[in-house]
Amino acid sequence: MIYEQGGAGRNSGTAQVICGPNGEALAPVWAPNRLYAQDKHAGFEGRDLIVVRATWGQGEVTVEARQGGEDGEVVYTIDRTGRESVTGSPLRAAADAAIEKAQCYHCRCRHYTK
Ligand SMILES: [Zn+2]
Repeated sequence: MIYEQGGAGRNSGTAQVICGPNGEALAPVWAPNRLYAQDKHAGFEGRDLIVVRATWGQGEVTVEARQGGEDGEVVYTIDRTGRESVTGSPLRAAADAAIEKAQCYHCRCRHYTK
């Protein structure tokens, strides 16, 4: 199982959201009713899932998306200047959701699920 998880403290945060191979939001197989700050907020299963991870700190945000799980191949990034590794990527919406979650103070919500 891989998880949507994370959130922000006061000045920094890390978060990841999960999407399908075309960047689409998915229905989680595990979705707890009670959500705790910066914890696991939804669980997904599948081999072709993409893990989209955002890091926020010192006013800058970066994103890295990996296909095939948390240690999979990097398929998309956004660097600290906002530049995408792939223009017009279908992963942009999931990346934006991960960025939002990484800046969501004490996040207790799901940001990218169906
Ligand atoms: Zn949140």
